[in-house]
Amino acid sequence: MPVGTQATVKGLSQRDLWEDLKAPIILANTYHLFLRPGHELIRDLGGLHKFMSWPGAILTDSGGFQVFSLSDLRRISEEGVTFQSHLDGDTHIFTPASTVDVQLALGSDIMMVLDECPPWPVSHEAARASMERTVRWAERAFSHYRPKIAESPTRHALFPIVQGSMFPDLRKECTERLLELDADGYAIGGLSVGEPRPFSMEMVEASEPLLPKDRPRYAMGVGMPDELPEYVARGIDMMDCVLPSRNARNGWLFTSEGKVVIKHAKHRADPGPLDPACSCYTCRNYSRAYLRHLFQAGEILFSSLATRHNLRRYLDIMGEIRQSILLGQFPEYLKTVRDKHAGTAEPA
Ligand SMILES: [Zn+2]
Repeated sequence: MPVGTQATVKGLSQRDLWEDLKAPIILANTYHLFLRPGHELIRDLGGLHKFMSWPGAILTDSGGFQVFSLSDLRRISEEGVTFQSHLDGDTHIFTPASTVDVQLALGSDIMMVLDECPPWPVSHEAARASMERTVRWAERAFSHYRPKIAESPTRHALFPIVQGSMFPDLRKECTERLLELDADGYAIGGLSVGEPRPFSMEMVEASEPLLPKDRPRYAMGVGMPDELPEYVARGIDMMDCVLPSRNARNGWLFTSEGKVVIKHAKHRADPGPLDPACSCYTCRNYSRAYLRHLFQAGEILFSSLATRHNLRRYLDIMGEIRQSILLGQFPEYLKTVRDKHAGTAEPA
């Protein structure tokens, strides 16, 4: 899922995303939209789909992750999390019920429960207390959500989030307790918080065997291109990541042959496309030399062309994965990706 933090995937129009890239779903951030322009304004203007003119599906997070990563002076209590806006310092509170209400006002298709995302590293004791609060918050979110959704004419889904820091026993226990909610899908959160990569995979492995096979599983905030098949191999169906779009703006491009740092001098006079194997608008029409020139000149067009390519690359990888699964060839596909990555990986 491309990330559209402020109800926009930076640098692209909704037409680029929908008609050109054919992205079926994007992610928007509840925390940001709650603070600006406000969920009530968006609701009054017909909901987020209409507000941003997006015909596809929208997944929203609960805002918890941003509260823990962006805002100052947050205070966690059983009721919820009180925080100061990073924009103007105003105090707000997110509770399990209020974050469901905000996401319903946005008209999100897939909503997330409020969870506590502990920093890494954290003690087992603190991680347990945090995980248990996350479970209680999920229960409260669902008790609030179920009667509301029963009256709703539109269909939505609410996913609880497995937490437990980097402790497999806590991850397992959290998963087991969340299963009682019989949710539409399950998310695995608390990854990409600075932990070494193997830990993220291990935490997915701890939860995966317990999660129902007929519901989507969503690994939040991952990953690098070569990691996407690794998560799928561990039973993950959905992922979101700012990497393809954020790195694109910084001139870091993902290609079928590995990463390209466009500012490098070797691209200065290169008439070839960024990625000969890519069919995106950028690769079909522009040379590396032109892209490098735009980047060096700080031109807006660079962000747009680069984002378009990087998202195409991510969506292509997911397309290749789906195709290989349908053909019964996913193990071979995974092996090819691993061999290729082993050949191109840089020393740590
Ligand atoms: Zn391309």
